[in-house]
Amino acid sequence: MPTHTDAHYVLKQTFGYDQFRHNQETIIQSLIKGEDAFVLMPTGGGKSLCYQIPALVRRGVGVVVSPLIALMQDQVDALRQLGIRAAFINSSLSFLEKQETEALLLRGELDILYVAPERLLTEAMINLLDQCQISLFAIDEAHCVSQWGHDFRKEYQQLGLLAQHFPTVPRVALTATADARTRQEILQQLSLQQAGIFVNSFDRPNIHYTIAESSGNVRQRLWQFLEQKHPEDAGIIYCLSRKKVESTAEWLMQKGRLALPYHAGLSQQQRKQNQQRFLREEGVIIVATIAFGMGIDKPDVRFVAHLSLPRNIESYYQETGRAGRDGEPADAWMSYGLQDVIFLRQMLEDSDASDTIKRVTQFKLQALLGLCELSTCRRQALLAYFDEALPAPCGYCDNCDNPPETWDATRLAQMALSCVYRTQQRFGVTYVINVLVGKTDKRIAYNGHDRISTWGIGTDYTQVEWRGIFRELIALGYLHVDMEHGVLKLTEKARNLLRGEEVFMARKQRKPEKKARQRTGVGKKARTQLAEADQVVRDALRQLRTRLAEEQGVPPYVIFHDSVLDDLAGYRPTCDSDFLAIHGVGQSKLEKYGEQFMAIIRQHPPSDTSVQEVADIHYQNQGAAQSNPSLNETTTITLAMFKDGLDPDAICQQRSLKPSTVYTHLANAIHAGELQRHQVLTLSDTEIETIETAASFLSVHWGESMKPLYEALEEQWDYSILQCVIAGMEQVSNAP
Ligand code: ADP
Ligand code: ZN
Repeated sequence: MPTHTDAHYVLKQTFGYDQFRHNQETIIQSLIKGEDAFVLMPTGGGKSLCYQIPALVRRGVGVVVSPLIALMQDQVDALRQLGIRAAFINSSLSFLEKQETEALLLRGELDILYVAPERLLTEAMINLLDQCQISLFAIDEAHCVSQWGHDFRKEYQQLGLLAQHFPTVPRVALTATADARTRQEILQQLSLQQAGIFVNSFDRPNIHYTIAESSGNVRQRLWQFLEQKHPEDAGIIYCLSRKKVESTAEWLMQKGRLALPYHAGLSQQQRKQNQQRFLREEGVIIVATIAFGMGIDKPDVRFVAHLSLPRNIESYYQETGRAGRDGEPADAWMSYGLQDVIFLRQMLEDSDASDTIKRVTQFKLQALLGLCELSTCRRQALLAYFDEALPAPCGYCDNCDNPPETWDATRLAQMALSCVYRTQQRFGVTYVINVLVGKTDKRIAYNGHDRISTWGIGTDYTQVEWRGIFRELIALGYLHVDMEHGVLKLTEKARNLLRGEEVFMARKQRKPEKKARQRTGVGKKARTQLAEADQVVRDALRQLRTRLAEEQGVPPYVIFHDSVLDDLAGYRPTCDSDFLAIHGVGQSKLEKYGEQFMAIIRQHPPSDTSVQEVADIHYQNQGAAQSNPSLNETTTITLAMFKDGLDPDAICQQRSLKPSTVYTHLANAIHAGELQRHQVLTLSDTEIETIETAASFLSVHWGESMKPLYEALEEQWDYSILQCVIAGMEQVSNAP
């Protein structure tokens, strides 16, 4: 009779983990005892161990039903790496391969078998299984059985038969998404009325949430986020349209990131190829419409970014849940603006759905907007939406890190609303703002709106600030966007505000994000915190991992997770027992890879001088030899590196400086005549011309604040880029 200690032994020996997570242990114990179970755990919570360990502890083969045929190969590869005898049967196997697997099964030489649902209930398969000892059935993605769930599959409805045909074999159904109604349907369809029910918290404590309002350039913000927090990580970026997917992927490629598009307009083969590269190569960014992601269980997705609003909070949670399944710190980052709000409302009104569905959708959209405009803890609000109470603010979201200041914007809101009113509720946001800030174009003049009382009353605020106010007014339901004509209308709610019976607190525009703080207890040593010298070892270890993964045709994380590489680089174990002590290393991995990884570690004895210092000293010497007296020391080092052929990104990395700092150095060098603008910038002539014109128009000069220029150009170019352009305009002649 298997015991409690067996499960722990397998956890440590095979998987290399010390502790169970959530209620894994209770679930595992009840399955080992032969009871049925229903497991509701958020994505990344660790559902697989719940059936893998009992399958190993109990006698016989564990049969896993999964709809995600494309991923079976990877799952099986990962298990084999752990020394588990795993295999799968689905339509992708050749006749011969299938026969081999069946032979293994009959000889009792398999621990775990993955089967597609439509296979499982064929007569042949049932016959085969009748001849084997089966330890358990696991039904993964169990919500597929429900017609109310979001991914109904007909084949799943047959699975209830398992209970009749194999009454003594314990069954476990698992899912990450199920509301009460779906849950009932799963239990009933799969005859699990007697099963133990295990519902976990939906909290994903290692995910940091940020929802940034973007009145200006979304790309600029995205780039800042990537540069600061994920300069080489893998991640997913969601966009609403195919066109935006394509252009964003292209733009990221130009910026030097490996970014691949994924949307329904691509051929099946292209999609498959891009998905494979995302799974197998390192640091790949997938830019996708929502078509991407179902069943992607890559554990080391370090960020999920939304460039436009998801449909509702459920989708947001599911999509962001794909980040950080390995439990290491990860980011859910979203940028949304006025356009998104209008666009989603428009899609809604244009749809042919029934009024009831429209109302539900409208309600869900409103809840999502509420989350976006929230000034308090995002996690509390998210969990509350799923009926879960978090007693205190989480301390690990943008609003907790940096509580948004609010201010009394009642007067501004009134100006905005009355301007909508005075222009007869016949115009869109841009037009109304133009009137507010006192512009006169042909249309405004023709309509006589340069003579109304609200013309020019808003000149104290920038267009960007006005757009922010309008976004909040729409999101909070004071203004309604009439989609048919694209015009703003006042709602009932607006009247109170106009009459001065209500106060309108607006959020202050947030400064660029601060560096994220580590949430206590999450992750041990974030990658960004590795010392420079550890980074070098880590890179070497990573290269080894890449090579091993390529040789075996498996994704790198199957060899070791990123966190293992971090720990290896940080702790530098050089003997078997130290190596085994690393979280995530079990006996099989030690035997397979220990020697090779330790060999690399031994080549990197700890040293006192970090690489960065060495590089700096080198360039300091080189720089000193030819230095321009008008440039300070740090600028001189950057300049020397640049002249040595390093591009700005490489300089940032070598010197651990922010891109903006490096560009400022380069701007100084341009201004001093040491570099030409075109050597540094890759802007088109038109772009340069636009910036130059705006700079002359606003009379912004070298050495002055770039802020007015930055804002006038709608945040389209970073401050440091503007500096470089102006440096070029006012370059000091270097000629003798
Ligand atoms: P799910 O299927 O619930 O989305 P997985 O089963 O894929 O999640 O597990 C997510 C990650 O967490 C995997 O990388 C897994 O190895 C890891 N994991 C699961 N349980 C534990 C544990 N007890 N300790 C450490 N890591 C765990
Ligand atoms: Zn919080």
